[in-house]
Amino acid sequence: MYEGVVQDLIDELGRLPGVGPKSAQRIAFHLLQADPADVRRLADVLIEVKAKVKFCSVCFNVSQDEQCRICRDPRRDPTVLCVVEEYKDVVAIERTREYRGRYHVLGGAISPIDGIGPEQLRIRELMTRLADGTITETILATDPNLEGEATATYLTRMLKPIGLRVTRLASGLPVGGDLEYADEVTLGRAFAGRRSADD
Ligand SMILES: [Zn+2]
Repeated sequence: MYEGVVQDLIDELGRLPGVGPKSAQRIAFHLLQADPADVRRLADVLIEVKAKVKFCSVCFNVSQDEQCRICRDPRRDPTVLCVVEEYKDVVAIERTREYRGRYHVLGGAISPIDGIGPEQLRIRELMTRLADGTITETILATDPNLEGEATATYLTRMLKPIGLRVTRLASGLPVGGDLEYADEVTLGRAFAGRRSADD
């Protein structure tokens, strides 16, 4: 244990995802030795990001405005909607430059073990978006793991009866992993080769 505020810093850093006790200590001591101006810049950006970044009211992507850059872009195809789990997946798909439609961010995947059911995800909001008939195809781009598969199966059963074209990404993505970790070429190919979803 360190004294007072140093230990507080280590504790706070240790609560971040992927930062174990040793890394927390290393980062804390790095900050203690760093130039005060550098530390101030980090502190400022932390406060600024929480104050400025919101979620898009249409697709729930991160956004600095009421609507995100993609939803406001008139060049994006309004008839195709790609459904993803997290906003990091939007970033991964945008990097491929294969996709010109819009997105819907669910905010996670169905996972009974973690107590996450369909009602914890933004599925109601998705159904509302589909109601006016502008969107004719939904691409289910959930993670290639158990939770992602369960979510895609659930959504296929909801979406097919309303007459939408429902597609899944082509196989070839690393099974069991996260969409965001797939390389651009693999993810781009999975998009181009998307296939009709089975019930
Ligand atoms: Zn948006």
